Amino acid sequence: MAMILNGKEVSARIKDELRDEVKAMKARGIEPGLAVILVGDDPASAVYVRNKKLACEYIRINSFEYILPKETSEAELIELIQKLNNDSSVSGILCQLPLPEHISEEAVINAIDPKKDVDAFHPVNVGKIMTGNYDFVPCTPAGVMELIKESGIDVAGKECVVVGRSNIVGKPMAMLLLHQHGTVTICHSRTKELAEKTRCADILIAAVGIPEFIKGDMIKPGAVVIDVGINRIAPKKLVGDVEFDTAEKLAAAITPVPGGVGPMTIAMLMKNTLKAAELNKTC
Ligand code: NDP
Repeated sequence: MAMILNGKEVSARIKDELRDEVKAMKARGIEPGLAVILVGDDPASAVYVRNKKLACEYIRINSFEYILPKETSEAELIELIQKLNNDSSVSGILCQLPLPEHISEEAVINAIDPKKDVDAFHPVNVGKIMTGNYDFVPCTPAGVMELIKESGIDVAGKECVVVGRSNIVGKPMAMLLLHQHGTVTICHSRTKELAEKTRCADILIAAVGIPEFIKGDMIKPGAVVIDVGINRIAPKKLVGDVEFDTAEKLAAAITPVPGGVGPMTIAMLMKNTLKAAELNKTC
């Protein structure tokens, strides 16, 4: 049976450490604040925004919420972002994706001041992640790296296979593994003989967005398996991109869904917000 990499527990530990850090920052006159913008009424996005607000409350930093109607224009949204860029009480800005179709995600991401871009999606921050000299690490891949650390496995020299090549998860994930000296293969929808590739992985990351796509027979015995996927298959049932029951029989360590990568993403967002507060401090 695999070791369960409990993201809920690890993230709770990290948030406790961050809460202490916030206390120390406030004593130095730094008051971190996170602005979260939600456009429209996507129920999953609303849940994510609520969880982010709760995390801010837990570590005792200010959160500023902007819930905008789905008819909001791109110009109005960018105007708000510019206002927040110039607001010294706002250390970090996050615009919850996806956005309604009439708004260009690229234009919105580009409007955020890179020093307040706690999601690390701005091209300046993406470029920094490529070079390895970064201020902000994208939250989900950063959370995955923490869970790999928790498994006790050293990434250096290991075969790492990332299934998924999105800008948000797959690509930055691959870069972080590379910076830790993993040998990285990135797979996607055009990859041939996927199972052959995943079966070579000492560390397998699934970020596909298809429920239970990675089956037990696609996993190398003893691998560390990290499931980034969050798929709602019934009103009260979430599953990942990995078929947990078959995978856990072979893996050395595995993340559950829910309670694996998801809570880590939010803890890493809090970490980035404190980093942003340091970067933007005026005193
Ligand atoms: P995207 O849809 O942007 O990317 C999915 C990737 O999977 C693409 O690169 C796609 O390939 C690849 N893919 C699709 N089908 C196949 C296939 N049959 N074989 C191999 N590869 C395939 O998703 P995201 O990266 O944004 O998210 C991935 C998952 O992670 C989702 O379930 C999402 O909900 C979850 N997620 C979880 C977070 C968390 O905090 N835990 C945060 C963000 C996302 P191609 O590029 O060729 O189309």
